[in-house]
Amino acid sequence: FAVPQIDFAAELNAEQYAAVTAPAGPLLVLAGAGSGKTRTLTYRVAYLLSQGVPPGEILLLTFTNKAAKEMLHRVEELTGYEPRRFWGGTFHSLGNRALRLYGEEIGLSPRFTILDADESETLLKQSVEARDKLFFKNKTNPRPGPLFSVLSLARNTQQSIETTVRHSFPQYRDIEHRFADFAAHYEKAKREQDVIDFDDLLELWLRLLREREQVAAYFAHRFRYLLVDEYQDTNPLQAQIVDTLAPHHCITAVGDDAQCIYSWRGADFENIMTFPERHADTVIHRIETNYRSTPEILAFANAVLEAQPSGRHFDKELRAARPRGEKPYVVQAIDEREQAEFVLKRTRALIEDEGVSPSEIAILYRSHFVALEMQLALARAGLPYQITSGVKFFERQHIRDLVALLRFVYNPSDTLAWQRIAVLLPKVGEKGAQKIHAAARDHAALLRADLVTALASDDVQSKVPKDARDEWPHFCASLAEVADQLRDTPASPALAVERALEGWYGDYLRGAFADYNDRLDELKALAGFAARFDGIQELLAQIVLLNGETADARSAESGADHAAAIRLTTIHQAKGLEYDVVFLIGLADGQFPSRRAIDSGDIEEERRLFYVAVTRAKDALYMSYPQVASRPGPGGMMNTPSRFLKEVPPELYETLRIKRRFNY
Ligand code: ATP
Ligand code: MG
Repeated sequence: FAVPQIDFAAELNAEQYAAVTAPAGPLLVLAGAGSGKTRTLTYRVAYLLSQGVPPGEILLLTFTNKAAKEMLHRVEELTGYEPRRFWGGTFHSLGNRALRLYGEEIGLSPRFTILDADESETLLKQSVEARDKLFFKNKTNPRPGPLFSVLSLARNTQQSIETTVRHSFPQYRDIEHRFADFAAHYEKAKREQDVIDFDDLLELWLRLLREREQVAAYFAHRFRYLLVDEYQDTNPLQAQIVDTLAPHHCITAVGDDAQCIYSWRGADFENIMTFPERHADTVIHRIETNYRSTPEILAFANAVLEAQPSGRHFDKELRAARPRGEKPYVVQAIDEREQAEFVLKRTRALIEDEGVSPSEIAILYRSHFVALEMQLALARAGLPYQITSGVKFFERQHIRDLVALLRFVYNPSDTLAWQRIAVLLPKVGEKGAQKIHAAARDHAALLRADLVTALASDDVQSKVPKDARDEWPHFCASLAEVADQLRDTPASPALAVERALEGWYGDYLRGAFADYNDRLDELKALAGFAARFDGIQELLAQIVLLNGETADARSAESGADHAAAIRLTTIHQAKGLEYDVVFLIGLADGQFPSRRAIDSGDIEEERRLFYVAVTRAKDALYMSYPQVASRPGPGGMMNTPSRFLKEVPPELYETLRIKRRFNY
């Protein structure tokens, strides 16, 4: 093996150097954002290679495949080693490789296939119905999606279903005693069909390691060095896999407990707190210099952490390595529209006057619904943007459902819109939807009635599958109410959206999605958007046009134009990344921290999320919030700035005034 020539001491600071060149053994690098943890891990790989460790003995675990690829690419640049000679990737991707190789040892067929999320839910649904035919008929019972979330969280946290329900899904306490039976049946169904689900990639991998000594010994021998990035966001299942893979304890784990933001998916930063207890003689390295951000941005970030109530966390204070820059800006906009216009204007100036590359500009937000106005403004201005591994607002499932509902009510001959809505009813497929529609058309023609009213007739109802009959009257009445709303003069598309949410679709949504509240927020944002239009046809036309424009923007994302697109992303997706300029929008109390976090009384994870957001910025940070809520909330029409903002001493940021033609 070629030994890479790298001057480690010159390219790393003393703390990083110590961690990179530490002797083999359990190593925990605990340091704040932007201190070079990921860089340290990358150099550690290079260092091991330089010491003659064959690349095949190194296993690199990261949070996303993209992160793994990027790190391996960096290692290649440093050392000249080709990335494919390493095992590197996410826990799930490596679980897949391990099970392909040795799954037979625990009775897995060599031809097993992996179910995607939809397929897993379908199989779970069938398994539940095999035990209790009527379970999903009862409206108060969870739909397959939420039920799957319960079982999945229990598996990832390695807790009993009972504990999981108690802590995270109290709404299902009455029926929790039935879940274990459903889970067992679901497991059996998977085994019979030689399929596994996403969680099995971890669970079965762990079982393989625990139950087959030779396999565990092989892995322990093969991978002499384990390196894990973002360790604070591992869940208990993943932490156990790491521990089981490394009886030799040669693990380098890097993380920042203040950046743990995935506890809703089972991540538990106790893993990082207890690492030294599980691995005797752990050497802890701390890095206290931040290389990413200007001192001003860093001072702001430090203040965010100082406001943390005392509790279980490691104290960290970061020193800036970079020269002075600008203070972070706080911008108060009248409403979401003005906020979007401000970001757009600043973005243009940054790109055109200051030569900032669009891909170095990120617009971050807490929840998708906050980004609607932003997407509208960018699409209208023709500025290419890229939503990092998310679906654009109007392409999201529930948004499309509701738009289809409006489209159908407005134009009942629109069969595609009808189908999209009708298939949400139990046991109604495309064919069935067509049959119902044909019957309604005939009935309407016969009685010279309109088609929406005709849906409720006996003729039509006889075409509806038995399983859907119970909710059929509610469904018809709800569509009729939306139709009434649209007939009013002046018609209010916003009220039509709200009617739909109060009616059948709202009920459907509640049952269908575990993240019901987030989706409801997005639909309320849709109502806010609809409020700008006097007629439904203007609204519907605008949505189609916007989708066309985003399709153009999308084509610009591929290939060479990748660099020309601004990044729009939730904070969760921006973890570990950095940008020259960051806009953090929607900093109103109730948006961030979210209303739900405030109501639950636990806002600490939101605070960590805020910390992650501000520490993505290298040169400039703009934070903004709308003064007027687009939809009235519990606090009325007016927003107050985020409590997180209020906790930071005002001398640490600068308040920007938006120049307006009229002052209010
Ligand atoms: P996060 O907590 O956000 O994941 P991190 O601790 O992993 O951050 P890195 O992403 O590794 O930090 O580093 C942040 C930035 O600082 C990168 O641009 C990196 O190249 C740079 N950097 C880190 N250490 C040094 C150094 N010793 N000299 C110069 N630049 C450095
Ligand atoms: Mg990192």
